[in-house]
Amino acid sequence: MGVTGPSVTPDSAHNLLFALVVDRDADTRTMYAEYLRLGAWQVEEAADGREALAKALAARPDIVITETRLPGMSGYDLCQLLRHDVSTGSIPIIVVTADAFAGDLARARAAGADAVLAKPCLPETLAAEVQRLLGRSRVLNTKGGAPRAVDSPTRADDVAPRSRAAHNISLKRAHKRGNTTEPPVAPPPLVCPDCDRALTYHRSHVGGVSTKHQEQWDYFECPAGCGTFQYRTRTRKLKKV
Ligand SMILES: [Zn+2]
Repeated sequence: MGVTGPSVTPDSAHNLLFALVVDRDADTRTMYAEYLRLGAWQVEEAADGREALAKALAARPDIVITETRLPGMSGYDLCQLLRHDVSTGSIPIIVVTADAFAGDLARARAAGADAVLAKPCLPETLAAEVQRLLGRSRVLNTKGGAPRAVDSPTRADDVAPRSRAAHNISLKRAHKRGNTTEPPVAPPPLVCPDCDRALTYHRSHVGGVSTKHQEQWDYFECPAGCGTFQYRTRTRKLKKV
């Protein structure tokens, strides 16, 4: 899971993993692309849906990260076209969108997105989701092309051995208690239990007696005003506070 700094790393130095980042906003593309490049990813960027489709078909990235609102062709259409092409149909797709109402989330999943994250989305959160999806697709591949799983909240048994290693690294880091927006474990994407809208992450509180017995609570706000929610990393329970 997420560590301070990129937790997504390629399998080997000579075979870089390749991500396609699609967003009409150059600052957003740069933010995600730079973070992934720090993790030794190769990153291609596209500013609109047609450019993204052309690049995906030509280069077959390991993962596609796209906004839904794109000039020319929407992110939903992009997802569908990628899914229906035999050369790109199995590439994991993460939708990162400012359109994070329940209907939009369902529409993105129906179009073929493996995961949907709401903006504002920290690069660390995105990297953790990339890690989760690639870990899972690797597991599925070894089982001989099992059907693609639909998106579900992050669970420990979805996490590949590679990210367990990353988790162990995080445990070795100095134990820092207090409030932070860059916690040792990336906050998961969550929806409001009352209205199903994507919750907005605000901050985390890291506590516990030592690095080995660390506790982390992530605080989220419902954009529709249902209230503030607290997610406890250790128990993976969400409650209103
Ligand atoms: Zn709500």
